[in-house]
Amino acid sequence: MRKPVIAGNWKMYKTVGESVATALALKPLVANANHWEVVIAPVFTALKSVADRLEGSNIKLAAQNCAAEKTEGAFTGEVAASMVRDAGCSHVIVGHSERRQYFFESDQIVSRKTQAGLAAGLMVIVCVGETLEQRDQGSAESVVRNQLAGGLSGLTASDLDRIIVAYEPVWAIGTGRTATPEQAQEMHAFIRRVFAERLSAAADAIRVLYGGSVKPDNIAGLMKQPDIDGALVGGASLKAESFAEIVNYKK
Ligand code: PEP
Repeated sequence: MRKPVIAGNWKMYKTVGESVATALALKPLVANANHWEVVIAPVFTALKSVADRLEGSNIKLAAQNCAAEKTEGAFTGEVAASMVRDAGCSHVIVGHSERRQYFFESDQIVSRKTQAGLAAGLMVIVCVGETLEQRDQGSAESVVRNQLAGGLSGLTASDLDRIIVAYEPVWAIGTGRTATPEQAQEMHAFIRRVFAERLSAAADAIRVLYGGSVKPDNIAGLMKQPDIDGALVGGASLKAESFAEIVNYKK
């Protein structure tokens, strides 16, 4: 049984005070949602304050990024995976398409960040996904296959229970245009096949989330698909009520 995961990516939104207020508003709204692993990802500066307020709740905390270096050092502006763990995170998101697109993160960087997250004892949510141009050219599967091979290189089957893959077609992020449940299912099944080729025993257990304009009104269709194990939600996670509506969907 794969426990589904629902993760809210708050991107570069909200002050510390706003993040705490949203987390506190969310807490009672999702208190009975034990059918999901519920995760929120505020900005770095709010992590510790939010962690303190979430103690004892069923909401887990993720950082949206971490440094590729495993240990502390002279890396101005970076935050190590061990530091986000220290701030109260159990999860970290790596390889988000916005990091790949605007900060030029390669699969090699994603791989190093994944390794750093695992070394710090975090659950690592690794994002993959093709652009619209790549989909139109018919290369969506090969792009995702390469991202998985590069971003997850060096992992063994025993690492996989701390890896969550998020399939996020770039053309569906923040655009209001969701992949159809069938399009998403097709790619999720493909991702599971890629894992089966490399690390057969673990392929059935790996959780693959869908991300890209997930909203309260489309979560049901997505979650009915056999290989969709949850969602990474951007815009609709910013308001406690709309995120809670998604979280309170039950398969
Ligand atoms: C995301 O940020 O990962 C995302 C999927 O955003 P949105 O839900 O707004 O498309």
